Amino acid sequence: MPNGKFSAASSCLRRFLALSKAFLISALLLSGCVSSRGDLLSQVSDRGANSTSVASFMGIAILTTASVIPGELPFDEVADEVDNCRLNETSIEIYSPHPVDGSSLLCEQLLSAVTWVRQLAGATGRTGRFRVTLVPAGRSFVTSRSSISIGGSMDVSFAFPWSSEDSRASTANVISKMAHETVHVAAGVLGKPAALQRDEVLAYELGACAQLKFLGVLQERDLPRGSLPSFQNLPKEAIASSRHGLDAASAVRKYMVDGQVSKKSANGINLISACEEKARSAFSSPGL
Ligand SMILES: [Zn+2]
Repeated sequence: MPNGKFSAASSCLRRFLALSKAFLISALLLSGCVSSRGDLLSQVSDRGANSTSVASFMGIAILTTASVIPGELPFDEVADEVDNCRLNETSIEIYSPHPVDGSSLLCEQLLSAVTWVRQLAGATGRTGRFRVTLVPAGRSFVTSRSSISIGGSMDVSFAFPWSSEDSRASTANVISKMAHETVHVAAGVLGKPAALQRDEVLAYELGACAQLKFLGVLQERDLPRGSLPSFQNLPKEAIASSRHGLDAASAVRKYMVDGQVSKKSANGINLISACEEKARSAFSSPGL
């Protein structure tokens, strides 16, 4: 291709990427996975918020992910890779400014959760690279990243708050959110219908089921809170997303006894099977 044309195309693509990042950050509050109010950071709960967007441009799929974590102080340390793990074409990389106790177990749990969702979605056989940044709890961080997806490949980055004092709750949150976002990523890169790409109830339910399946127990306190202090003056999409989180929590709560359900109980087995059936059925719709 002549240089002039290439430059024009690549400058156009760069502009598109910049616009898509700006759009995604500003649209995080509208697109789901967000549950509070105020300005950008104060609208996000202390569990953080993540968002995924897939757009096709001149035959190329652009995959953009964003993460927003609120905190008292900005997170400005360098996060180095502290662990990585891989199964066939799926890989996880964990980044943190400090060593993370149990990082290899966390990596394997995330790999299992992401692989499970990718299998349910029919995305096995496509490259999946997932970069995970663990931000010390109490630090604020806003980030986004775009990548090009070819033939359903996934190259994404997400950030999550991490508390070494409460690694149990942090682990539950990271696994739930990774499974949730993988539903959106898979639906987007596989070219599934827009309704499935935006299916917040399915994403929240798979997030809850991933905790149950890969941590062995799902506790009520780790379900989506949907804790909007008020539904006043909020975009209708944010209200809908919060309600979808509550809908998913209420569907899952029916399987719990005394605020929890274990993987080996009859209820646990039934809940995982309900999640898997629902996901397979949703992803059986035509895509790419
Ligand atoms: Zn979502």
